[in-house]
Amino acid sequence: MTDPFDVTPRPVQLGEYPVWDEALALVNRDLAATLPERAPLRLMALPGWEEDEDPHEHAHVALSDGTWWGNHLPDGSDADPVSALFAVAEAAQDTVSERLWQAWPVCTEHTLGMHLREEDERPVWWCPKDHVRAAVGALGTVQRPPRARGARRS
Ligand SMILES: [Zn+2]
Repeated sequence: MTDPFDVTPRPVQLGEYPVWDEALALVNRDLAATLPERAPLRLMALPGWEEDEDPHEHAHVALSDGTWWGNHLPDGSDADPVSALFAVAEAAQDTVSERLWQAWPVCTEHTLGMHLREEDERPVWWCPKDHVRAAVGALGTVQRPPRARGARRS
């Protein structure tokens, strides 16, 4: 008899969900561009409930310590790269902002937390000051990490 509450998350290995892997690699670029002190996000999986008609595990976007916040990646969101990128970016935003207690990602021009939007059928980071900051995965092209090279600590 297994304890139904013993749902131990397991780290997902690279290659198990290749489409989500690709999406996560893009989102991790944004993380590295904005929170360089943070280790990359990773996928964690939880087993499905045995009571379910079709028990299957669910994947979450987690911090490097394996903790996450919010919903699992929707079933089928790894059917194509764009859906995967939306799903992974949204889950990453939940996990980073809720686990680390900070808005993420932030538009460095306006110091405002950004939202996920669709533009030209691609996910972008949209600033409440009504502009698109960058496509998901491209934040590094518009903003440098807070402790960028040459920066001095006072
Ligand atoms: Zn802005």
